[in-house]
Amino acid sequence: MRLHPSLFLLSFSVLSASFANAQWMGDEDARTQMRYDVQYLASDELEGREAGTKGEKLAADYIMGKFQNAGLVPYGDSVSYLQKFPFAAMPVLGAKNSLQVGRKQFKQGQDWFPMAYCDTGIVFSKLVKAGYGIEAPQLGRNDYEGIDVKDRVAAISISSPDGVHPHSRYIEHNDLRKRAELAISKGAIAVLFYNDNKDMESPEFRMSEKVQALSVPVLFLKGDLHEGLIVDGNPIVISTDIVREQRTGMNVVGFLDNGKENVVVIGAHFDHLGYGDEGSLHRGERAIHNGADDNASGIAVMLQLARDLRELDEARANDYLFIAFSGEEKGLYGSNWWTKHPTVPIEKLSYMINLDMVGRLDSSKTIAISGVGTSPSWAEIDPMKINGLKAKTSKSGIGPSDHTSFYLKDVPAIHFFTGSHGDYHKPGDDVEKVNFNGMLDITRFIESLITSLNDDPKLTFTKTQEADSTETPRFKVTMGVVPDYMYDGKGLRVDGVTEGKPGAAAGVKANDIVVKLGSQDVTDMMSYMKALGFFNKGETTQVTVLREGKPVTMDITFK
Ligand SMILES: [Zn+2]
Repeated sequence: MRLHPSLFLLSFSVLSASFANAQWMGDEDARTQMRYDVQYLASDELEGREAGTKGEKLAADYIMGKFQNAGLVPYGDSVSYLQKFPFAAMPVLGAKNSLQVGRKQFKQGQDWFPMAYCDTGIVFSKLVKAGYGIEAPQLGRNDYEGIDVKDRVAAISISSPDGVHPHSRYIEHNDLRKRAELAISKGAIAVLFYNDNKDMESPEFRMSEKVQALSVPVLFLKGDLHEGLIVDGNPIVISTDIVREQRTGMNVVGFLDNGKENVVVIGAHFDHLGYGDEGSLHRGERAIHNGADDNASGIAVMLQLARDLRELDEARANDYLFIAFSGEEKGLYGSNWWTKHPTVPIEKLSYMINLDMVGRLDSSKTIAISGVGTSPSWAEIDPMKINGLKAKTSKSGIGPSDHTSFYLKDVPAIHFFTGSHGDYHKPGDDVEKVNFNGMLDITRFIESLITSLNDDPKLTFTKTQEADSTETPRFKVTMGVVPDYMYDGKGLRVDGVTEGKPGAAAGVKANDIVVKLGSQDVTDMMSYMKALGFFNKGETTQVTVLREGKPVTMDITFK
C-alpha cells in the first residue's frame, strides 16, 4: 500500500504549477464555481436537458465553454468537442389513424390501436380469416392451408388452438409479432388481431422507441367488436399514421494531454428528463425536471476535476479524457455510443470514473462507490479517508449508469453516488437541496484516488459477479430474481427466482413480468433498478406482476 497524499500536500504542489494563466482553485472558489455550474444547468432555461432538445444543446454549449476554459483539447467528432449520435425518439400517433370494416367506422383508441411494430400506411383490401395465424407442421397445424392472404388483410385471433397458458402446445407461437411476420411472409398487406378467448388478457396500447416497425400496418381490434365482423371478403380500409422520428444527441468530449501512455476517463451524464414525459416518477401536471442532483452535480464535479487535474503535478502520470454524456436517462445512449465509436483507442484506457448523482451527501458523509470489483487496484479506496468522507464500496461493474458501458468493454470502471432520495426523477430535484461542501469533499477524494494510482501502470481489469446483476450495490435491498435480458416488452420479465430471497418468499415466479414495485411503475430493467432504490431492509411493500397476462399483487418484505 502506498501513501495517500493528503489534501495539505496537494495544495502545496499547486504552488509550483507551471501554467502561467491558470491557477489552482482554492476550496472556496471551487465551491462557488460548482454552485454556479449546477445553478445554470439546473435552471428552467434548460428545460430539463432532455437528449435531442434545445435544452440539451444549451447545456452542451455551456460544458464546451468550460472545457475550453480548462484548456482541454476538443476530442469529439473530428476537431469538435461534440460527438453526435443518433437515437430513435418515442413514436407518437399522427392525425391520420382510421379503420373501416364493411360499412362500420372504428375509432382509434376507443375501438382499436396500432401495435408497437405497426407501420404507417394506407390499405384498401379485403379480410381473410387466418385462424390463429400459426404454422406448426410438427403439431399438424397450419392456419394458412387452403387460404390466400396475398394482398389481403389477415385477421388473426391472438389465442391458440388450446388457449394461451404455460402448458399450451403452441406456447412458442404465442408471440404476436412473429405471427404478424408470418402473415407478411405469406403476402398479407396488413394484419388485424382480435381476441376471441374470454379467458385471455388483451394486449394494451404501447409504443416504444426500442421496437422496430414491420413493413405493414398491424392493428388490434378491442373487446368483442370482432363478433360478426371477421368474415372472409369483408372490405376493409386502414390508415395508420405513426411518427417515428430519428433524433440526434451529443456527448461533449475534452482531452487533457500530458503526453502519457495511458488515458483515464472521467465521465458524467448531463442529460435529464426534460418535462418528464419518460422516466419521471412525478404524478401530476407536466413540469420541468431540473435534475440538479441528477446529474448537474456530477457534471460540476467533473468540470472541477478538469480544472484541478491540469494544475496538479501529482496527477501527470496519465492523460485524461473528460466526457459529458447525453442520453443516459433514455438508456445509456451516449456512453454506449462513445464506447462503440471511441475517440481514444479503448486499449489505451487505464480506468473510468463515473459521477452520477453526487450532490446529496448527507451527514453520515458516506459515498457509495460501486464497481470496485473491476480491478484489484481499487483496493486503494478502502483505507482512504478524506475530509471525513466514508466510502461504501461494492463490487459489481454493472449498474444503472454510464460506467456500465465501459465495464462491458473491459475497462475498470467505478461509479460515485451519494444515494437516492424523495426528489429522485421528480421536479423537486433542485439546486437548493444540493450539498456543495459534499461535492468538494468528493472532488478532493477523487483527486487523492487518482494520485494514489499514479504508480500503477494501466489498471488490470477483472470481471465482477453478474449472477444477479440488477441487484447493483447501489441498492440496499434485492428481490433475488434473475431478469430476462432479452425481453423487450413492458416491465421486467423474471427468468428465475432465488429461493429464500424476498421475491421467492413473496410468491414471485419465473415467467412473471414485474410491472410495479411500491408506488413505482416498472417499465424496463432501468426503472426496476431505480424502483428498488427506494427501499430499505426490513420494509414491506407490494409488488405487482403479470402472470399469464393477469395482474397479481403480492406483499414483499426486503430483508
Ligand atoms: Zn436519472
